[in-house]
Amino acid sequence: MRMTKTCARCKEQKPITEFRWAVRGKYRGSYCGDCERAYAREWSKTETGRASRRAKEQRAYVKDPSRRKVAAKKFRDKRNDQIFEIYGRACSCCGEAERVFLTIDHVNNDGGIERKFHGGNEQFRNWLVKQARLPQYQTLCWNCQWGRRINGGICPHELVKAEVG
Ligand SMILES: [Zn+2]
Ligand SMILES: [Zn+2]
Ligand SMILES: [Zn+2]
Repeated sequence: MRMTKTCARCKEQKPITEFRWAVRGKYRGSYCGDCERAYAREWSKTETGRASRRAKEQRAYVKDPSRRKVAAKKFRDKRNDQIFEIYGRACSCCGEAERVFLTIDHVNNDGGIERKFHGGNEQFRNWLVKQARLPQYQTLCWNCQWGRRINGGICPHELVKAEVG
């Protein structure tokens, strides 16, 4: 029995065990393990490869719809993380740093750009994350954001600060 085999891709002679079984116990593949992995990597970047991966995801979603939610949440978490990386990880008014309390606020309260995104906040954030830091946005906690809105654009915190200092 031959204990080495020549890879059809890199043309190197390699131990037979580096070739995966094409049919278990009968034939081994003609590419060595390294070349198979390289080939799979290249293929996954082609149009067909990407389409095939999407189709696979799609089938997984049909089988288990909760996966779509999990994937969407993962996407949102990562995107929000990038946004707070740009605009700061704490409220720029009170310093609150608990993620679930934080949101992105329009400094001048005019929301002009946001209004273009009829799909709402998610589309706005998908757009925002692709921009360089824009001066008209800041990280605020919900308390401070609502405080500003209700209080004519000035967070009650600032009034307290003004009184003290
Ligand atoms: Zn090879
Ligand atoms: Zn705050
Ligand atoms: Zn505040």
